[in-house]
Amino acid sequence: PVRVRFCPSPTGSPHVGLVRTALFNWAFARHHGGSIVFRMEDTDKERSTQESYDAIVELWRWLGLDWDEGIEVGGPHGPYRQSERGDIYRDVLAQLRDSSYSYDCFCTNDEVTARRQASGSKMQGYDGFCRELSPEQRAAFEVEGRAPIVRFRMPDGSITWTDAVRGDITFETENVPDFALSRANGDPLYTLVNPVDDALMEITHVLRGEDLLSSTPRQLALFEALVALGVAGSVPVYGHLPYVMGQGNKKLSKRDPEAHALAYREQGFLPEGLLNYLALLGWAISGDRDVFSMAEMVEAFDINDVNPNPARFDLKKAEAINTAQMRLLPLDDITHRVLPFLKEAGVVGDPVNDADAQMLELAMPLVGERINKLTEAAPMLGFLFVDEADFERDPDDVAKLLDETGRGVVQAAYDALSGLHEWSTAAIEESLRVALIEGMELKPRVAFGPVRVAVSGKRISPPLFESMELLGRERSLSRLTSALA
Ligand code: GLU
Repeated sequence: PVRVRFCPSPTGSPHVGLVRTALFNWAFARHHGGSIVFRMEDTDKERSTQESYDAIVELWRWLGLDWDEGIEVGGPHGPYRQSERGDIYRDVLAQLRDSSYSYDCFCTNDEVTARRQASGSKMQGYDGFCRELSPEQRAAFEVEGRAPIVRFRMPDGSITWTDAVRGDITFETENVPDFALSRANGDPLYTLVNPVDDALMEITHVLRGEDLLSSTPRQLALFEALVALGVAGSVPVYGHLPYVMGQGNKKLSKRDPEAHALAYREQGFLPEGLLNYLALLGWAISGDRDVFSMAEMVEAFDINDVNPNPARFDLKKAEAINTAQMRLLPLDDITHRVLPFLKEAGVVGDPVNDADAQMLELAMPLVGERINKLTEAAPMLGFLFVDEADFERDPDDVAKLLDETGRGVVQAAYDALSGLHEWSTAAIEESLRVALIEGMELKPRVAFGPVRVAVSGKRISPPLFESMELLGRERSLSRLTSALA
């Protein structure tokens, strides 16, 4: 059965590239009825933070990228934080040390560099000096008080794998230097723990970013050793997902504001919108369709269809996809999701009182179809909920639309509406049309703009007549009056 992993490093704010990788793993596993293991790669104690860990968990939960075993949920291959797996790594390291797959290395970096320079070699990395130390050489190093690191002995020849995204890839191992598995103090290094965890967690498919491709020959060689030692069952399939490019054809980096995945939630994106957009970074459901549900993605996803070429991150497109997803939601669902943003903006209280709940139910149909992000509802609806004493108008809109002419229009609107018998959308519209369009021979934009600013405080608002019905006679008339003051 298919087993994949989410294995972010909790360093900093989670990046959209990380989410794209997780999404493709998720879709792949769910398509094949497989399992997802979530492990936290917090080996680097200096750079890992609890804050980043929490942000990752929160982000995954918001997105609905669920997992079957791992951090927070447990499972048979735990613990799932690398920082808690030290004993496991030390045990595997001891097995490797007892075998010919690795050797103790006493060299300092400076010594390696000096030897490289002396020999005129352009090769980077370790030169194999300690591969075949004599007992005397070893003893001499130990007398000097040097503690060894454990280094993996790269096999001769070449390493080839069939990448699930890129097809056959071959590296000559003479270009891949022997690499360190542990520090001199015995601490295991990332180069060791990542494959060891994949082995012990029985991962069948490693789908990850292209940035890790150059480490794959080392990991495959180590994996072969782990299989030979009986630590690993079999070598997983590797697949390297394309780079995500930002502005100016550069890799989207942590410094780019659009790279921060949690910012999309704050900005009022739907998780469906963000996921749908990220799915397009290297994959397509079919030539002419770019809006789809995650269920449809799971149904259709084939890792072999992933395009190996770099994908360009386009914020405009992400927003358009989010809008399209918003239009697919039933109004009740939109209301439910908008509510936390209305609370945060102080439009409604927490808990929502009955009057506000009633107003919300009547008002949401006016904006449900108009918002592109969940954050857009609060500024559109605020004027319906605010106490008259706190009601404010946008100063720019006031300057533009409540000038001499505008005030004349508002006065005429007041005169027409103050005598209205029935306070309904249709009656309000009819009476304003008669007074302003027919009576004053104004164009609709000129007629209704000033009324809109008077009543809602803004030039852009939900439909005017409906809004005035919701606001009620008294409040509408009082706003028309206050606009003239
Ligand atoms: N922890 C690594 C990262 O966050 C992922 C390594 C892998 O997928 O093998 O970049």
